[in-house]
Amino acid sequence: MAPDILEDVQARLESDFGFKTKGAWMQQGRCPSCKKRELFTRRDNPWVVRCGRSNRCGYEIDVKDEYRDLFESWSNSISADRARPERLSRRLYDL
Ligand SMILES: [Zn+2]
Repeated sequence: MAPDILEDVQARLESDFGFKTKGAWMQQGRCPSCKKRELFTRRDNPWVVRCGRSNRCGYEIDVKDEYRDLFESWSNSISADRARPERLSRRLYDL
C-alpha cells in the first residue's frame, strides 16, 4: 500500500473502529457484527480487517471496498502525475 494512502487508511480505521496499535498490528477494534473488540489487521498492510472470533463471527472488511473514496482520490492523483510529463514534453516541442 502506498505510504500516503496507508496513513489515511490507518487514521480512518482508528476513528471508525477504535483500533489500538501493538507493534505490527492494529488490534481491539470494535466488530460491527458481534460488537466485541476483536477486530485486527496488519498495521503496515491493512487490506483486510478481520474479527478474531473467526468461528463465531467471521466478520471481514475489504478495506479497498470500505474506503473506496480514499483509493479513488489516490488513483486520481496518480493519473495527474502521469499527465504532467506529457504536458512538459508538449511545451518543449512547441519551443
Ligand atoms: Zn465479530
